[in-house]
Amino acid sequence: MGLLDLSRKLIMKASAIRAVQRIDELGAISETDDGLLRQFLSQANLRAAEKILEWMSLLGMHCEHQADGTIRGILSGSNPTAKPLLLGSHIDTVAHAGKYDGALGVIAALAALEDLLESGCTLPFPVHVLGFSDEEGVRFQATYLGSRAVVAGLDESLLSCRDAAGDALRDVLERDGWHDGAAHFRYAPGDVLGYVELHIEQGRVLEEAKLPIGVVSGIAGQSRISITLKGQADHAGTTPMPLRRDAMVGAAACVLAAESLAHAHSPLVATVGQISLSPNVSNSVPESVKFSLDFRHPDDEQRVELLDLLSHQFHQIAQQRDLEIHWQVVQESGAVACDDFLIEKISRAAKKVTGRCLTLASGAGHDGVMMQQIGPIGMIFVRCLKGLSHHPDEYCAPEDIAAGIDVLVEFLNSFHEA
Ligand SMILES: [Zn+2]
Repeated sequence: MGLLDLSRKLIMKASAIRAVQRIDELGAISETDDGLLRQFLSQANLRAAEKILEWMSLLGMHCEHQADGTIRGILSGSNPTAKPLLLGSHIDTVAHAGKYDGALGVIAALAALEDLLESGCTLPFPVHVLGFSDEEGVRFQATYLGSRAVVAGLDESLLSCRDAAGDALRDVLERDGWHDGAAHFRYAPGDVLGYVELHIEQGRVLEEAKLPIGVVSGIAGQSRISITLKGQADHAGTTPMPLRRDAMVGAAACVLAAESLAHAHSPLVATVGQISLSPNVSNSVPESVKFSLDFRHPDDEQRVELLDLLSHQFHQIAQQRDLEIHWQVVQESGAVACDDFLIEKISRAAKKVTGRCLTLASGAGHDGVMMQQIGPIGMIFVRCLKGLSHHPDEYCAPEDIAAGIDVLVEFLNSFHEA
């Protein structure tokens, strides 16, 4: 450790040092020895939930859990019947995960409350800290199960989803759920002052800007398309180039078209991440290629417009190469805007702590997508090393974590003065 790092560490508050230790402690709770994994309704997920409840009770919070493993700590404040402000994030992880994604949001919220309590501040409204048991959707291929459950409940179609072992969510919940003393918490629209989540950025915008903290303007809308191009399989040695109907070359042109469009229309991002071809042998001209397109933009109108444009380009490419094209929309979710008032409050808090503040859109989905059904949402992003996430090397510097906690404290202080 260099002298500068050491001095930064020395001036860190006890709450921030504890938060960093807790990240490590929670990061050690895993289903597998081979990298971090905490899926929905796994023993590791429940153990992590128990650990966080322990920390919540140290703050004197009223602690509860649901059968699905989502947890809640309540700090009543001076007016326990007032509408609460919700803080938190998710406690599940992907496979070979990093230890900051999700966990930091819950741990930082507790650290901020610890600082407030220590300074003698009593908030005039209750704060609920939530730890959602599922956001990543790894086990049942359905995202936001934890936050979905507290705002809308899990419907029949979700309860019928099956995991890789073939077990239905309904049965797994019955068998492995945390039923002992379980509460059932729900929020209806208008029940809350808002939901504020701190999360690692999972991108490189803050790192490029040399800033520890950013304020999220909204969560990008997303389209997922499955495209199939069909040409003709031919002998790779005997078919002259002008006579070919090569689906793979058509797909390559499409991938480049998607890339050019995204470059020309920032902040659009477009990714072809999955591809399969047939017959997939080295000496045949490919007959058909199926590939995915992940297409995201913070503005829904522009996303739809640009996707139309790209669809038109793909059809042109297919026509020029005498290929059939099948374009299928697999999934579509609208953009979610963060609340202007919360953005303003978080920005001011961030400026106070770090000197300046950057507003950026989130390309990744977050629990706010669900929580905006019941009230305004706000998000604080914390810089992470190289933007790396969903990876064991995911890293967030202790001083950035400390800055994130300070921003939350400033935000909470200014929020109740509003
Ligand atoms: Zn996350």
